[in-house]
Amino acid sequence: MGLYDNLRKIDPYVPGEQPQNKDVIKLNTNENPYPPSSAVLDVKERYNTDNLKLYPDPDIKKLSDELAIYFNGKYNTNLTKENVFVGVGSDDVLSVAFQTFFNSGKAILFPDVTYSFYDVWADLYKIDYDVVPLREGFLIDPEDYNRDCGGVVIANPNAPTTVALGLDAIEKILDDNSEVVVIVDEAYVDFGGESAIKLLEKHENLVVVQTYSKSRSMAGARIGYALGGYRLIKAMEDVKFSINSYTLSNLQIAMGVASLRDEDYFKKSVEKIISTRDRAKEKFKELGFNCPDSKTNFLFVTHESIPAVEIFEYLKTKNIFVRYFRKPATIANYLRVTIGTDEQMDALFKALEEYIDKK
Ligand code: PMP
Repeated sequence: MGLYDNLRKIDPYVPGEQPQNKDVIKLNTNENPYPPSSAVLDVKERYNTDNLKLYPDPDIKKLSDELAIYFNGKYNTNLTKENVFVGVGSDDVLSVAFQTFFNSGKAILFPDVTYSFYDVWADLYKIDYDVVPLREGFLIDPEDYNRDCGGVVIANPNAPTTVALGLDAIEKILDDNSEVVVIVDEAYVDFGGESAIKLLEKHENLVVVQTYSKSRSMAGARIGYALGGYRLIKAMEDVKFSINSYTLSNLQIAMGVASLRDEDYFKKSVEKIISTRDRAKEKFKELGFNCPDSKTNFLFVTHESIPAVEIFEYLKTKNIFVRYFRKPATIANYLRVTIGTDEQMDALFKALEEYIDKK
């Protein structure tokens, strides 16, 4: 019956990717090493039994409203809750967006290399796609997206390459594809990228997706959202309500609101990651690694003489987990290293120094 034909692209589960042993130094899945704002941990909804007894608000109005107000303050936009779709992490939001927007029958475009879930969703939902090779230095050239297609997905900054695209280039992609939806996945934008949110009013075909998982230290809370024109967001809501109306719990919604209200903490923890990242980049260089300029909370590194897989295996023996990609071949000699605390990065560099000295 070919039941699982459309699942063929999913990589087998990588054992040990989420080790539960607290002694490991976990630099492999781009989480934030710092806790969320204490306001998130204090939300009073934790103690309210109605939050267990009753269904949550399926429209997630409160958090949508607060997100709109938050971004209006930041970018001088005129967003309302009707411009916001909230989901269970940005994976959920992106998956709903793929199902909503990419059913024209024409191939959608995204870069090769990019976030590994895009082709998985495309396969699952039977969406045709063409991957567009990156240029030298892992750059995305907007010119490559100027062709007839069913939609475009760009991670900006891109993952796992860490490279960010300027808003002028994003705008060119939007202009050249004005008849189809362009999704800009900004999972890492707070670490130095430039958000396309300020382009929303000018471009009706734009959907910006962000997450609480990285810069807000809330990967475990599972909150993501899309911002876009009313018509597009309403279409996403319609698809969501056809799958599962009650996605976020009351507790998640309250935590999401609390995080937005602690801007000071948010700014400080992002600055801390950026300064550790810039220091780590220098240290990697001293040890013979190269990496592109990162605008994310991770570095994409390759050693001038030691194969990535060897370093990856060695670090595991030291209880340090980084991410190694077996494919595609263009990145098989790279490691993706999440920025941890200064202590974690020091332990990483101590282990690397010992290893490289012995070589
Ligand atoms: N987009 C990109 C580019 C990512 O790297 C990730 C996380 N690995 C996500 C989306 C999904 O993150 P989450 O579901 O935790 O919001």
